[in-house]
Amino acid sequence: MNNDEPKTTILVVDDQPANIQALGALLKDEYRVRVATSGEKALAMLQDGNQELPDLILLDIKMPGIDGYEVCRRLKENPATSGIAIIFVTALDAASEEEHGLNLGAVDYITKPFNPAIVRARVHTHMNLKRKTDLLEKFALLDGLTGIPNRRHFDELFDKEMRRCLRNGLPLSVIMTDIDHFKGFNDNYGHGAGDKCLQKVAGALSGSLVRPGDSICRYGGEEFVALLPGTDAAGAREVAERLRVAVEALAITHEHSSAAPVVTVSLGAATLDPRRDSETDRQPLLSRADQALYAAKEAGRNRVA
Ligand code: GH3
Ligand code: MG
Ligand code: MG
Repeated sequence: MNNDEPKTTILVVDDQPANIQALGALLKDEYRVRVATSGEKALAMLQDGNQELPDLILLDIKMPGIDGYEVCRRLKENPATSGIAIIFVTALDAASEEEHGLNLGAVDYITKPFNPAIVRARVHTHMNLKRKTDLLEKFALLDGLTGIPNRRHFDELFDKEMRRCLRNGLPLSVIMTDIDHFKGFNDNYGHGAGDKCLQKVAGALSGSLVRPGDSICRYGGEEFVALLPGTDAAGAREVAERLRVAVEALAITHEHSSAAPVVTVSLGAATLDPRRDSETDRQPLLSRADQALYAAKEAGRNRVA
């Protein structure tokens, strides 16, 4: 394994210290190994939102209290933990037990007494698969051209932040951003230059967001959308102006724009204030931002509305 990569984490859940020791010794050189001595402790550890989740769990089935099947069932029904790979390591060797375990969503089933080399090999296999799945999931949420979050990611974030803000009674702002006369840019400088321009604009926009909860996504074509949880209308206006200035400051020549001699953006901001507004859907908020963007275009572009 490459030493620069962070070690992946395995959680061993077993009520017998001897088993924990044997599995720990087998895996500790390649993985970070954590242990839980009961189903209850494992669940408490995994459902504590502040703890980093393991990539894989080696899970005993027969334990006093909550057994391994139940731990598996609960982890698989919770979206926050359903992606963790689970391998049952158990003395229950009947085919019906194995079938039951795999039906609960486990990726593998190893019977005790186990052969160390085989356990290690199977763990390797599932870790590799897990790594690839995580990577695919990450790329599925990124825009291929600009490397910033894509629209699918935006929809997920928007949904999550909307619910969070409504729950906490906090405002939520969105800013629709659209490059001015970008068709003219493409027509005159070529599609390749257009792509480079999009990359630079995306970089300038994401570089201008400073709060950790803020994000900017490529919404489509030459449109971007910023999501600002906990930000009111005045704050959104300030951020929008900062985004506008950041793009203008790139100073990318655009001789075919009515707005400026350089590439600029128009921005439309909208805010949902749960203390004032009764809407709870995402669409009306986006429509308001879109209308504001349209107003900014109408008023001469390179401005915030
Ligand atoms: P306005 O100021 O009103 O926004 O005018 P506009 O020309 O920017 O708007 P319009 O919607 O007519 O044109 C958008 C252009 O963006 C057309 C399309 O070719 C270009 N575009 C969209 N996606 C990409 C892309 O991925 N790469 C490049 N190079 N161009 C793109
Ligand atoms: Mg457009
Ligand atoms: Mg445009």
